[in-house]
Amino acid sequence: MIGGYAGKMLFVDLTRGELVERSLSEDLARSFLGGYGIGAKVLYEMMQPGVDPLGPDNVIGFLPGPATGTRALFCGRYTIVHKSPITGGWNDANSGGYFGPELKKAGYDAVFVSGISPKPVYLWIKDGTAEIRDASHLWGLDTKETWAALQEELGDEKIRVAAIGPSGERVSLLACPINDGHRAPGRGGGGAVMGAKRLKAIAVRGTGTVPVANPEKILAINKAVVKMMQEHPATPAWSEYGTTSITAGSILSGDCAVKNWAGAGIVDFGEERAQKLSGEALDKYKVKKYGCYNCPLGCGAEYEVNAGRWPLGPTERPEYETSGAFGPALLCDEEDALLKANEVCNRYGLDTISAGMTIAWAMECYERGILTKEDLDGIELTWGNGEAIVALLQKMADGEGCGAVLANGSAYAARVWNKGAEYLQTASGIEIPMHDPRLGPGLARTYQFDPTPGRHVKGGIGIGQLGLPPEEKYVYEGTGEADLKATTFQEVLNSLGFCMFALSVGVTPQAFHDYAEAILGIPFTAEDSLNTGLRILNMRLAFNLREGITPADCTISERVVGKPPLEAGPLAGVTIDNEKLARNFFTAAHWDLETGKPSRASLEQLGQLEEVIRDLYGS
Ligand code: SF4
Repeated sequence: MIGGYAGKMLFVDLTRGELVERSLSEDLARSFLGGYGIGAKVLYEMMQPGVDPLGPDNVIGFLPGPATGTRALFCGRYTIVHKSPITGGWNDANSGGYFGPELKKAGYDAVFVSGISPKPVYLWIKDGTAEIRDASHLWGLDTKETWAALQEELGDEKIRVAAIGPSGERVSLLACPINDGHRAPGRGGGGAVMGAKRLKAIAVRGTGTVPVANPEKILAINKAVVKMMQEHPATPAWSEYGTTSITAGSILSGDCAVKNWAGAGIVDFGEERAQKLSGEALDKYKVKKYGCYNCPLGCGAEYEVNAGRWPLGPTERPEYETSGAFGPALLCDEEDALLKANEVCNRYGLDTISAGMTIAWAMECYERGILTKEDLDGIELTWGNGEAIVALLQKMADGEGCGAVLANGSAYAARVWNKGAEYLQTASGIEIPMHDPRLGPGLARTYQFDPTPGRHVKGGIGIGQLGLPPEEKYVYEGTGEADLKATTFQEVLNSLGFCMFALSVGVTPQAFHDYAEAILGIPFTAEDSLNTGLRILNMRLAFNLREGITPADCTISERVVGKPPLEAGPLAGVTIDNEKLARNFFTAAHWDLETGKPSRASLEQLGQLEEVIRDLYGS
């Protein structure tokens, strides 16, 4: 077996109460790496099209990558995979912290859970053994309480836990698991899938090591990576303030959502208010730095908030995405409301992006008279009203009144209430994250046409365009190859189990190819990366195609692509030609523009996609 793997996958059927271990084949590892690469391949084989995302036949997987838990830097991530109850298609979402490395050290490359348990359960995994345990006594606890309770019950404070909170238990579609108390594979409804299965948590403890092919080479690459970071101008700010180092700048540049994507930060929010949400301002609550497993950057922070309207005690610094969704997107500059919202989402297990942007949609509908005070259970949801935001979020977390509807997302609420659909800001039904396609046009292609829609952690040229001058980024000719290259690299980076923020502090793609060679012990050239990334991308795409999702079903709200364009601010007048960007990408990826099908020849050339060829082409 090549390096980087425990060599074992766990399959859990909660209906039958069965656990089965299977060896991980070298073919599977070489071809799909890990994370959502292996996840897509296995779910494609295990699942039939058309299954209810909240039914027993949906499978949810928890997968570290081959890098996860090794001595490579930035290697703390794992991914959850499942069919999304929000989009009805493929979903993956990744998370940092320590849960993924612990799972690898416990001897598993993947855990797949199917079925529905008759009662609440948790999975206890320890050093190569696994069992299903009763979780009735944990049902109702929030994610932090669950982690603490399991550490005490199992008698080991080093236990790592991925758990749902009350939002997942009541199968709110915006629910996500939370690992390590505050890290989240947040998007796409994984918490709802766990809740529907009555899977409260997975607790892991592993004391093993992850075998790698060339440990000395990994240490040498680590040194080179640290040097790259030291020489990069963004490193000090990222190290000090993490993702919040970009909050104020992103609000003012036009990158961040403002007023449900209808506003311009410099005009509608202003510099002073933007600074109030910056890392510098929020860090008055900082107690200490937080870093994921083996991360030299440590971009998180632990806070202590003991005064004000919501004295939270120990809490965490909100990430940029959270700060945007609960800040300028709602025209709110009240830091205590932001901190409270972050804490509620972490404890109840809610996706902060979708929760904040669902409130943004409701807020716009309220301001326009589409939703009334009565619709919102008496809450006056005016722009910037922190008290109202927290009150509505709490209702969503508690599943109470209008909150029970909004906890399923803005598209769901618009459908159920039959109003406000024209103000949704979504991609295929999921709320758009905090990077504006009008500033990085390629993001529109990624949000709309990636098989996991509406994600800032999926690849493409968009993120790299954010800082480019207009003449270099509003270019719609010849983007396909670069878009495909960036996308496939991100597929590889994510599937290996690395954190993409390394790229923000100067770590080069080549460094990750070098890590792959050192960990796996096989050549991993840029061409290997492109082919492997495209194979993984095609596997995710095939999952959606089998569900009947074609390019025509992939939608993006018009406002975020500048239809109509903004009238003020740095992005005034910008309209994105996403049709052209998509056409370029589809051509480069050998995807049919109408059906979305990858060409047979390209699938055959990539290899290891026989079942996809069979399903798409009949033999
Ligand atoms: S950069 Fe931040 S999110 Fe990424 S691994 Fe390090 S601490 Fe975790």
